[in-house]
Amino acid sequence: MTDAADLAARVREGDLRLHELDDHADADTAAEARRLFVERETGATLDAVGDYGFPAERAESNIENMLGTVQVPVGVAGPVDVNGGAASGTTYLPLATTEGALLASVNRGCSVLSSAGGANARVLKSGMTRAPVFRVADVVEAEALVSWVRDNVAELIEAAESTTSHGELLDVTPYVVGNSVYLRFRYDTKDAMGMNMATIATEAACDVVESETGADLVALSGNLCTDKKPAAINAVEGRGRSVTADVTIPREIVEERLHTTPEAIAELNTRKNLVGSAKAGSLGFNAHVANVVAAMFLATGQDEAQVVEGANAITTAEARDGVSESPDSEARRTSSGGDLYLSVSLASLEVGTVGGGTKLPTQAEGLDVLGVRGGGDPAGSNADALAEYIAVGTLAGELSLLSALASRHLSSAHAELGR
Ligand code: NAP
Repeated sequence: MTDAADLAARVREGDLRLHELDDHADADTAAEARRLFVERETGATLDAVGDYGFPAERAESNIENMLGTVQVPVGVAGPVDVNGGAASGTTYLPLATTEGALLASVNRGCSVLSSAGGANARVLKSGMTRAPVFRVADVVEAEALVSWVRDNVAELIEAAESTTSHGELLDVTPYVVGNSVYLRFRYDTKDAMGMNMATIATEAACDVVESETGADLVALSGNLCTDKKPAAINAVEGRGRSVTADVTIPREIVEERLHTTPEAIAELNTRKNLVGSAKAGSLGFNAHVANVVAAMFLATGQDEAQVVEGANAITTAEARDGVSESPDSEARRTSSGGDLYLSVSLASLEVGTVGGGTKLPTQAEGLDVLGVRGGGDPAGSNADALAEYIAVGTLAGELSLLSALASRHLSSAHAELGR
């Protein structure tokens, strides 16, 4: 009997539990033993799941009870020209997805963005949040706690920052509901997405709050953070990176390449992305930002559950007076037959280029495609650049889908490419 078969038999006999296998074998053998066990228990064959391309120990801090990997096809869209605050130049965007037609669509958008001179992108606000909830007796104590926090921010900063060499506590915003007090801690986490960093730092700050006030910590997360749930606070205040990408596309390009007009795209955006989303009570006012966020998150090792907040985005479109290619100012158009302005603003894009899933071999290669693997110089610049690249990807995706809808080509493109 192989080591793995022997271990699987011991699990079946109740001698070992699945999660204890790593204590008795290397990570690859433990994964093989689990596959053998699960195959016998379920009747499934896990050959493909077990056919992974890196040592299982590389994933040790990313998963427990590992069986193998699920492979998601990855491709590139681009090249696309980006004029960012941290990202600049011509790049390819790595996207991992199972949705046929997505890359073709983003690719078409990238091509049009580049023809228009490239997309702008800027990170406008940055900060990862953690909001513990405290119990107090009543509103009188709540007010006292809020006052104490406002008077002692320096002490909280000292405690929080003692746990990290990169993180900086930016501010602490209190919220009171009855006798519950929420303190929303916001950190500059540099190139880390920062959820572990912020949680560990906040725990240290909470120890100070508890020892110096009468408040009792109920939970390190009181859901006002808000992590992995759709929440208006993230849309309004931001979380992770708040980033916007935009472009002005000459009218001729819209007509020739996208077979529609700036006016048609602007009207469609208003009626669909703004009014339709408002009527639906949606938090996202966009066409399919989640598609590109999810695909780039998977390709670059981001926490996929945070697509919830990442897709919290507003797309705007205007048909507006444009400037022609001619340097002659007489050539400036003033009629309504202008160019297309398109923007996507992502309020809460939580990304990192260190930590979490970014160190897995395939995901690290995805970051390499963008040139943003690891810590940036200065710290934080790589994660800013990643946020800007993802924003540009979403802009390309919005442009392409809105154009397909405006020119009524959507169902034929899906029929051709996705089925
Ligand atoms: P992490 O992998 O826990 O830590 C990354 C660490 O990298 C930082 O703490 C920092 O150490 C170090 N570092 C090195 N160079 C850096 C640089 N240039 N910029 C910033 N940090 C640098 O990652 P994390 O981003 O804090 O957390 C992400 C993980 O949290 C993901 O795996 C995610 O799935 C998980 N997650 C956790 C929670 C939670 O509640 N705990 C919630 C959601 C997701 P120093 O701090 O020592 O400087």
